[in-house]
Amino acid sequence: MPHHFERWWLLIWGIFASGKILNLSFEKNAMSKTLQAIRGMNDILPREAALWEYFEDTVRSWLRAYGYAQIRTPIVEPTELFVRSIGEVTDIVEKEMYSFEDRLNGERLTLRPEGTAGCVRAVVQHNLLYDAPQRLWYMGPMFRHERPQKGRYRQFHQVGVESLGFAGPDMDAEHIVMTARLWKLLGLKDVSLELNTLGSAEARTRYRARLIAYFERHAEALDEEARRRLYSNPLRILDSKNPAMQALIAAAPKLMDDLDDASRVHFEALCSMLDAAGIAYRINPRLVRGLDYYNATVFEWVTTRLGAQGTVCAGGRYDTLIGQIGGKPAPACGYAMGVERVLALMVEMDKTIPSQVPDVYLVHAGEIASRWAPRVAEALRDAGLAVILHCGGGSFKSQMKKADTSGARYAIIIGDDEAAAGEITLKPLRSGAEQLRLKPEAVADVLKS
Ligand code: ATP
Ligand code: MG
Repeated sequence: MPHHFERWWLLIWGIFASGKILNLSFEKNAMSKTLQAIRGMNDILPREAALWEYFEDTVRSWLRAYGYAQIRTPIVEPTELFVRSIGEVTDIVEKEMYSFEDRLNGERLTLRPEGTAGCVRAVVQHNLLYDAPQRLWYMGPMFRHERPQKGRYRQFHQVGVESLGFAGPDMDAEHIVMTARLWKLLGLKDVSLELNTLGSAEARTRYRARLIAYFERHAEALDEEARRRLYSNPLRILDSKNPAMQALIAAAPKLMDDLDDASRVHFEALCSMLDAAGIAYRINPRLVRGLDYYNATVFEWVTTRLGAQGTVCAGGRYDTLIGQIGGKPAPACGYAMGVERVLALMVEMDKTIPSQVPDVYLVHAGEIASRWAPRVAEALRDAGLAVILHCGGGSFKSQMKKADTSGARYAIIIGDDEAAAGEITLKPLRSGAEQLRLKPEAVADVLKS
């Protein structure tokens, strides 16, 4: 009996101890495992960032040329804002939003999946439409829980443009004309414009009934998602990406046939403005967009060069959204482009961007020289030059190697010799030209000549 008892203890202790060991090694594993970015959320490394910066610079000056002012809104908004604006029965709200409860105060929050809702919320909150209509733009990250693939990410970026307080088709035309100019500035080809009108709310109600009747007649051909949306949001079915549904969608009734007069006039005026501006477009009666706030004009810029994710830019009119969010009703329209897709297209076009190499790499060795070098570097920057000041010491030879790999056009060499004379040696790195001995003040002129 007693030694039985002992065995039990041994067994229990054994389990406990091995658990401990396993546990410990597990923790050790977790500690040494390298952490990774979240799936579908990309790091933009310095090599790629150069293209992003070029794009952003181009976008800023392009928007200035049309008189748009920037608005910056928070990345997190009340969940309610998106449910109310984008619509309950949409891909975004049903399954793509990063929503959570703030543990500290119980608020229901969402990482913004798009920029229009937040922009309109800010305009209403700060009463920006009080004395004048507004031309606004924003740029930044958006978040949607989608299946990551080329051109589709969970954190992606948009440049968005919103014109609030404008009712006429002249503003729809401005938006389309300005995007056409941006494609030209960025060197993009093979982007084409698809255009449609969703009419008024009443026209869509009439159309909805016809569409439901049509899909009911073909119930057996509907996929699960379409069946689920048949009565809640049948227009959304037209936006389906399921290849098996495309024939059915192509044969569906067209909203054009239910259009109200005001929307028809608006749409025809827009088309003739685009004709006058020399902008080609294709009227696509199936174009409905994935968000509920649109009415009348909708458009997409699409390309065949990016595979399945071919929509580069999309937008339209949302004349009831401001009222829906609680503002004094005012007409508005806007659009957003997917930055990753635009950049992918630039890469596809072999777009070359101006190189961002420094003008000068400054090498220095010796006590007096190294004390003087930082002041020379600052003086050169005062004169408008981009200067990398060598840090970390080392021989002239090793520093010159770094100067070479930096891509800088010139090395400036300061040894104690030069420092004592108050001069520098200027050595061209990308040509066979002679090196020169100069006063630092003369460098900027020599480099510019
Ligand atoms: P898609 O039909 O490709 O899902 P969408 O209709 O959901 O696009 P919008 O909400 O209209 O897209 O957003 C405007 C633009 O933002 C798109 O045309 C696209 O260029 C870009 N975009 C949207 N979702 C993503 C994403 N997950 N990753 C990268 N870009 C995106
Ligand atoms: Mg989508």
